[in-house]
Amino acid sequence: MERSVSNTLHSDALNHLVGGVNSPVRAFKSVHGYPIYFEEAEGAIVTDVDGNKYVDFVQSWGPLIHGHSHPKIIDLVYSKMKKGTSFGAPHIGEIELAKRVKKRFSHMDKVRFVSSGTEAVMSAVRLARGYTGRDFLVKFEGCYHGHVDSLMVKSGSGLVTFGIASSPGIPENTVAMTLLAPLDDEDAAEYLFKEHGKDIAAVVIEPLPANNGILKQRNRFLKRLRELCDENNSLLIFDEVISGFRFKDGSYGDICGVKPDITALGKIIGGGLPVGAYGARTEIMEKLSPLGPVYQAGTLSGNPLAMAAGIMTLDLLDDDAYDYLEELGQILEDNVTPVLEKHGNPVRFVRMGSLFWFSPGSGSPPTRADQIPSDAGKIYAEIHSGLLERGYMLAPSAYEVGFISTSHTIEHLTGMVDALDEVLNMVELG
Ligand SMILES: *Cc1c(COP(=O)(O)O)cnc(C)c1O
Repeated sequence: MERSVSNTLHSDALNHLVGGVNSPVRAFKSVHGYPIYFEEAEGAIVTDVDGNKYVDFVQSWGPLIHGHSHPKIIDLVYSKMKKGTSFGAPHIGEIELAKRVKKRFSHMDKVRFVSSGTEAVMSAVRLARGYTGRDFLVKFEGCYHGHVDSLMVKSGSGLVTFGIASSPGIPENTVAMTLLAPLDDEDAAEYLFKEHGKDIAAVVIEPLPANNGILKQRNRFLKRLRELCDENNSLLIFDEVISGFRFKDGSYGDICGVKPDITALGKIIGGGLPVGAYGARTEIMEKLSPLGPVYQAGTLSGNPLAMAAGIMTLDLLDDDAYDYLEELGQILEDNVTPVLEKHGNPVRFVRMGSLFWFSPGSGSPPTRADQIPSDAGKIYAEIHSGLLERGYMLAPSAYEVGFISTSHTIEHLTGMVDALDEVLNMVELG
């Protein structure tokens, strides 16, 4: 595929933007390519500046569950936009979106809107610390919570429970208050609580970890975290930025049968505009300013355009929409499984509803970050570039999941599987 306009823009961007991008994974570094500049996008299809079209399985990394530029979302945002882009004052859209969020997240009495998933988690952590009067957090290896200082922690050599910062610029003191545990391991969590229980403000987890591939957890493990939090008066924070509103049966908390204290949201609830949110029962939320002492604010929080996009996105997510997403997911699974088998299973196909992942490695799906082979990127880079040349766009990283939207069709999925078959034939030929 010819991408000369994209490549020229990228060269220019390198002079002005760091690495030419505003978010690192967009740089295509881990798949050894160059970023593709988009011109427009409609439904499942994106068109680049060279006029190439691709079936998009990235969907802006999750928010676009109805595909790009859904006419009803665009219409509502446009009609609101004509009345003002930001008020810095209350408006009805905030109430309307909060009602919709509360309907699905039954543990929330009150909601606070912010402008990104990162901000939602960061603020939820501050609220938990303010509410409990404690400083320590527990986080899990393989979960991503945005670029929050206290949660950008990875395991270091020799340290069993304390992690090290996963980026320069994060003070040691900040990271020293974050305890790191492996996923899918009750014993490790129990040990942390035995040692530090009375200092732990909150356990922070993606109940469906989906930022390091899909690392589905046993319900029993999530329930044990709930028990440990209860026994130690710590709060349980579910980061549902990626899983929230993705499943017909409710929040992921409902699905796993565990009620968190605070839930952080983002992505789908903003319908493609910048939104995050967090919510909890009244007693916790009333610690927040202006009612309580825990400060958190935002110039563009509750932005009317973002609220409108969120409202229409959630209204379009009726039972039929969820059923269609599941049907598409099942069709993809049914089609892709024999193709992978035919090629000796070079990757595993893992799916949770409309989320899917070509997981490097073999055997049953991984439940912990350390079960993903360290050379995961190699085979994935070949699959990614091969599919891209055939008009199918997956995320440019082996650790990112794919997204099916209600704008995808069966043909988009079977087309991708046929293309994958071809790509794997080429890979085998070397
Ligand atoms: C995307 C994501 C975030 C960060 O959200 P941003 O809007 O990118 O800041 C946090 N947590 C989870 C689980 C996510 O998937």
